[in-house]
Amino acid sequence: TKFTELGLAAPVERAVVDEGYETPTPIQVRAIPPLLQGKDVVGIAQTGTGKTAAFVLPILTRLLAEKKQAPGLSCRCLILAPTRELAAQIGDSIAVYGRHTGLTHAVVFGGVKHGPQVRALARGLDILVATPGRLLDHAADRKARLDLTSLVVLDEADQMLDLGFMPALRKILHMVGKPRQTVMFSATMPPPIRALADDFLRDPVTVAV
Ligand code: AMP
Repeated sequence: TKFTELGLAAPVERAVVDEGYETPTPIQVRAIPPLLQGKDVVGIAQTGTGKTAAFVLPILTRLLAEKKQAPGLSCRCLILAPTRELAAQIGDSIAVYGRHTGLTHAVVFGGVKHGPQVRALARGLDILVATPGRLLDHAADRKARLDLTSLVVLDEADQMLDLGFMPALRKILHMVGKPRQTVMFSATMPPPIRALADDFLRDPVTVAV
């Protein structure tokens, strides 16, 4: 399978070419088609398999297909990550893969000042990458709203479980609007993660590598 056979938007394909990627990895081959179709997906994959591009490339394509501006405080797509390091890495990947798209993104995590994050949220974003605790702080302050969000990714869900984020994740998922597309990536599927998928994903396609 080639990248050009996956149905990605032209500006997204261009970024893949810029990066020098020749062929999609197995998780990309399996996850990108159902994600482009709008299906919920559970991806069981470790870091290093190309899992970030597996969800970022189809998300960029879907956001481009429906050109609309997110109202202030809201985001069209929310990506949740367990740590500030991972959130920042995902943000970097969005900058790289999205460089020809004109789509906007911001990253919010704890341990730093609220001001710059609040100003980024105020404009309305195509993609918000966040750690759960800081996102709930912004929501409680009425600086972020999730009811207009229609695409959610939970990355490294098992790590979020280990860090005690399960109650925060459930709270956040209850705040997100419906209908929505929900995507979960995890290296392992312990029972609480399976239960989270059962409660918040709709007929998910499971892809494992
Ligand atoms: P990840 O599993 O998302 O942490 O990605 C691991 C590394 O693989 C990253 O440095 C990516 O830049 C790289 N990568 C992702 N997809 C591809 C691909 N199709 N071909 C070559 N490298 C890739």
